Amino acid sequence: MQSAKTVFITGSSTGIGRETALYFLKQGWKVAATMRTPEKNDLGKDSRLIVPKLDVTNEDTIKSAWEQAIEKFGVIDVVVNNAGYGLTGPFEGASSEQIKRQFDTNVFGLMSLCRHAISFWRSNKQKGTLVNITSVGGRVTFPYYSLYHSTKWAVEGFTESLSYEVAPLGIRVKLVEPGAIRTDFNDRSADRTDEKAAIEYQSILKIARDNISKAVKNSSEPIEVAKVIFDAASSDSSQLRYRAGTDAKLLLTLRRLIPENLFFSIVRSQIFKGAKI
Ligand code: NAD
Repeated sequence: MQSAKTVFITGSSTGIGRETALYFLKQGWKVAATMRTPEKNDLGKDSRLIVPKLDVTNEDTIKSAWEQAIEKFGVIDVVVNNAGYGLTGPFEGASSEQIKRQFDTNVFGLMSLCRHAISFWRSNKQKGTLVNITSVGGRVTFPYYSLYHSTKWAVEGFTESLSYEVAPLGIRVKLVEPGAIRTDFNDRSADRTDEKAAIEYQSILKIARDNISKAVKNSSEPIEVAKVIFDAASSDSSQLRYRAGTDAKLLLTLRRLIPENLFFSIVRSQIFKGAKI
């Protein structure tokens, strides 16, 4: 019988990361469910579970969490780069610190862990799979999400190029692209640019936010993404992209099938519905 595999997940305290940790455990995997505040974790106790401290913006915590997982399980088969959040609002109202933090978390943090994993697997002659969580927002865009989109588009390009490069080493690379998912993403975890910095945006921004809130009311549950992550992690195929959530499938199919300008006008008509522009 094949021995249980090990997954190493970032941002496991809430939302998609938490659901993914629990789902892999249920499937019999060993799980390193990393998070910034392990002392607050509510994942329960299991001999196949450890909860190391990891902040993706701090390379020392990446190294120490990785070492803890190797010490406990001997091997890491899959890394799920899930940690991330959205900085939204008018671009003009973003401070340099906010922009930097958005990229430090969603892009550079993810890259640090990818580099650590690849280097470990290559030097130990092991195979592995990287699953990077991007978003439908890594393929299409909406107004007032420019900074979040730019991080997810960066991760899309980075991951696609990397997939060619590390395949000869026996390392698979996957992208999971969720649509709107019911988590803390739009509430507790969100960061906002300074909307008062530019009065001209305010009335239209309010309408756009209301329309976006209505659209994400039909969000999918995080378990749907966890299942897609599990499929991507377990797959022997070279498939790169996996969509998660009903709206993801619809939006990305529409984006592929219709001319770009028509797609843009649909986005405008939906998000600015009711605005005088
Ligand atoms: P969430 O806010 O519940 O989870 C994000 C997790 O990342 C949190 O546990 C948070 O503590 C963690 N995190 C943030 N900064 C971190 C850091 N520096 N180091 C380590 N952990 C950090 O939201 P979620 O929806 O579960 O988001 C998970 C991923 O899914 C994110 O990458 C997000 O961009 C992506 N995503 C979410 C949606 C959605 O609608 N919820 C849609 C598409 C993509």
